[in-house]
Amino acid sequence: MKLYLVIPCYNEEAVLPETAKRLREKYASLMAEGKITSDSRIVFVNDGSKDQTWPLIEELHRADPVFRGICLSRNKGHQNALMAGLMTVKDECDAAISLDADLQDDINAIDEMVDKYAEGYEVVYGVRSSRKKDTFFKRTTAQGFYKIMKAMGVETVYNHADYRLMSARALNALAEFDEVNLFLRGIVPMVGFKSTQVTYERGERFAGESKYPLKKMIAFATEGITSMSVKPIRMIATLGMLVFLSSIGVLIYSIIRKFTGDTVPGWAFLAVSIWALGGIQLLAIGVIGEYIGKIYLETKHRPKYIVSEYLKDD
Ligand code: UDP
Ligand code: MG
Repeated sequence: MKLYLVIPCYNEEAVLPETAKRLREKYASLMAEGKITSDSRIVFVNDGSKDQTWPLIEELHRADPVFRGICLSRNKGHQNALMAGLMTVKDECDAAISLDADLQDDINAIDEMVDKYAEGYEVVYGVRSSRKKDTFFKRTTAQGFYKIMKAMGVETVYNHADYRLMSARALNALAEFDEVNLFLRGIVPMVGFKSTQVTYERGERFAGESKYPLKKMIAFATEGITSMSVKPIRMIATLGMLVFLSSIGVLIYSIIRKFTGDTVPGWAFLAVSIWALGGIQLLAIGVIGEYIGKIYLETKHRPKYIVSEYLKDD
């Protein structure tokens, strides 16, 4: 099997030489075992780095043809860099594995992913068994992220980041999703095909620093929700309905107060109006939002279906 690794790199000069060395060793052993063919490649995607990342990739490629490099014209973010890499290699390989340059995701899981591919799985998700080595902060925010995504109706694989194997067929199906707001963790499950998971322990970044500070994580989560789900819009409509129903409660309450005698003239009318109008307005915005949500999903031009098998004569 011809396996390609796709590794997005943004300012990763501190980890790149060591990463390349470890991956080269992994490849050598996989090739020796006959699990992957000798024309398998390791592809680095330079996501507009401002440091020595690209010269390092060029050097690696010169020294050893197993390494390849793709250079983006500017920084486009992790998800886009990943997509660029996968779409560039999809017709050259049998399967591609995406992973981070810092090797926080245990590369020994590659063996198992390759085995699963050989068993006929087309998408193999790498799932973290524990996050002991992450900082408390990273762990809680990351887990909160998966929970919020779920509450917002986005189907993701729990504790799975972008460490996964996809067959060429699955990659070609992924190519059908031509959306600009890219949230791969949500799209890959939509692609379907026979899939499974392998678990591994997540390690520490051995050099350099995280390219995902809190600000980027929040932006990523927002992107994930708003690119995959129109549930937030529905929540506005629900809220409007609740406020409107409350206005009936307020009406009853003000009638009671009226007859028990301690009200200022005009008070009941104002109180009920505020609740009823507020509720109706929110509800109306929600209804309009529902249509905007539809337009939004239509503009994504997602494939309506992906054929996996066609049994026929001749
Ligand atoms: N990355 C990228 N473009 C960016 C930010 C990050 O290609 O704009 C890459 C980065 O080089 C790394 C991967 O995305 O290979 C994940 O980043 P990082 O390890 O810093 O994230 P964390 O593990 O802290 O969530
Ligand atoms: Mg990392």
